Amino acid sequence: MTITGSCFCGSVAYKVEGELRGARSCHCSMCRKAFSAQASAYALVNPKEFSWLSGEELLTSYASSKDAGLMFCSICGSTLCGTYQGNAHGVTLGCVDGDPHIEIGMHIFVGSKAPWETIPEGVIQYEEWPQSNTK
Ligand SMILES: [Zn+2]
Ligand SMILES: [Zn+2]
Repeated sequence: MTITGSCFCGSVAYKVEGELRGARSCHCSMCRKAFSAQASAYALVNPKEFSWLSGEELLTSYASSKDAGLMFCSICGSTLCGTYQGNAHGVTLGCVDGDPHIEIGMHIFVGSKAPWETIPEGVIQYEEWPQSNTK
């Protein structure tokens, strides 16, 4: 399958020639800032299946740690993807166009959620990382 995504102003677009996996929402304080929201909404990609369709020259990035970063549109500010050691690591679900045929499977770092957020009932949630998940 081909999944496409784009930013708010439409200048930057990408495609994923494959499937997204590991969709999660992280409620930690860093993700709240990075996504300007109550939590991240993010899914992993195979870096080999990810490519930019337009606007790559308009991207700017922020290194949130030595290996990990985020790339966003310098015009409208949409966060489009996360990187790991310079390669695409995952995409922000908010910028995916259409139905990527994946649903958020876990809510993580719920223990540090914002005081104003209400977590819906019935979702799989973890105080921090799930035990078996290292990344
Ligand atoms: Zn934009
Ligand atoms: Zn987080």
